[in-house]
Amino acid sequence: MQIEELDRAYLFHPMTNLAAHEQNGPPLTIVEGHGATVTDSNGRDYLDAMAGLWCVNVGYSHPEMADALHAQASKLPYFHAFSSMGTELPALLSERLIRMAPVPMSKVFFGNSGSDANDTQAKLVWYYNNVLGRPEKKKIISRRRGYHGVTVLSGGLTGLKNLHDGFDLPLPMIRHVRPPHRLWERAPGQSDEEFSTALAAELETLILDEGPETVAAMIAEPVMAAGGVIVPPDTYFPKIQEVLDRYDVLLIADEVVNGFGRLGVPFGSDAVGMRPDLMTVAKGITSAYVPLSAVLVSEKVWQVLLEGSAKYGSFGHGYTYSAHPLAAAAAMANLDIIERDGLIAQVAENGAYLHELLRAEFGDHPNVGEIRGKGLMAALEFVESREPLRPFAAQGAFATAVTLHSREAGVITRALPEADTVSFSPPFVTTRDELERMVVGVRAGLDRAVEARRSAS
Ligand code: PMP
Repeated sequence: MQIEELDRAYLFHPMTNLAAHEQNGPPLTIVEGHGATVTDSNGRDYLDAMAGLWCVNVGYSHPEMADALHAQASKLPYFHAFSSMGTELPALLSERLIRMAPVPMSKVFFGNSGSDANDTQAKLVWYYNNVLGRPEKKKIISRRRGYHGVTVLSGGLTGLKNLHDGFDLPLPMIRHVRPPHRLWERAPGQSDEEFSTALAAELETLILDEGPETVAAMIAEPVMAAGGVIVPPDTYFPKIQEVLDRYDVLLIADEVVNGFGRLGVPFGSDAVGMRPDLMTVAKGITSAYVPLSAVLVSEKVWQVLLEGSAKYGSFGHGYTYSAHPLAAAAAMANLDIIERDGLIAQVAENGAYLHELLRAEFGDHPNVGEIRGKGLMAALEFVESREPLRPFAAQGAFATAVTLHSREAGVITRALPEADTVSFSPPFVTTRDELERMVVGVRAGLDRAVEARRSAS
């Protein structure tokens, strides 16, 4: 059997229309990648404008990453961290993460994915409140369009309906508030300041309606990624933080996409003025060479968790692969490359260039309602009409068509769920010439999607 046939017959794909895949199999089989380019089984090259899923930050097949993994796999591929057992690389990495953190943090708990790390966050928050003797303080607030994972708990924190439907999510202790998405959520004539004030007031109303004694935490991405690359107004998080502080509600920053330089600064919390009590990182920590996530815990939370030892004994949470030496070796090599090559400054410069290119190419387009983003993270949101502002009736179909046609033009981008948006999140090592070619490819995709719509009507 051909690989494509094996795939169609046996591989249960994540985030995929199962019936369509059963019929069609994979549209591409990627067999190789170098820098920002991936190659399919027919030998065709594509520029990957998404760095996989916002994660291959140092680019594909970096020789130093391969060397570091080889060295660690040849020395100690695995030993666990249960029952106080130590290995070298995770200890070095945890110290490095605490040193890098955008706000003072004390401890690092390692996991394997963004989803399991956000489940860990919920368990920490619940444990924290149990130790403090307030067992009713358990609800967690997130935002519509926020993406925090797919596990039983984190899937509900994610504020996207298609991740809930059919799975009986969210779990009952989860609440959602409106996101700071100017295009659709801001009232006509409202300033950024007024918009932020309104959103913070809504959060406060929710907390008061629920009862502050029942609300434990809020989770938020500094700049939302999969929900549509949504950059909040400058005063949004300071106002949100004020409300959370007033009711003793912890703030969890989900830095899974933003962390380690994606926005042209080390962390998203720096960019938007968040002061989290807990932080989640994954993806860019290893540039996805090996799965790894981490939860960073502030001293305030840590001191309470410590008290828990007297009440509950050994901390009953952790994974076989928590503090995996091979994953930690990948993270150390990845962070070395980012630091040594000045990649975060490069993201800031090339990000500004990408935004210039996008404005020049799409600024006047009648179907582009908004161009937004920060650093090497950007999105185009499509609308049926700009004036009056009107979304496409079949939500998401147009962006999917743009993505498909862009791929025909040699550029891989991503249509975001429940939004007519395509996104850009290229590897940090993408050259300016490659950025130009990515924009040209997506422009070709957009032109063909417009044409296809016209000829269908
Ligand atoms: N948080 C954010 C902000 C994410 O973007 C993602 C993944 N797209 C996750 C959490 C979940 O990560 P994972 O897919 O590794 O479980």
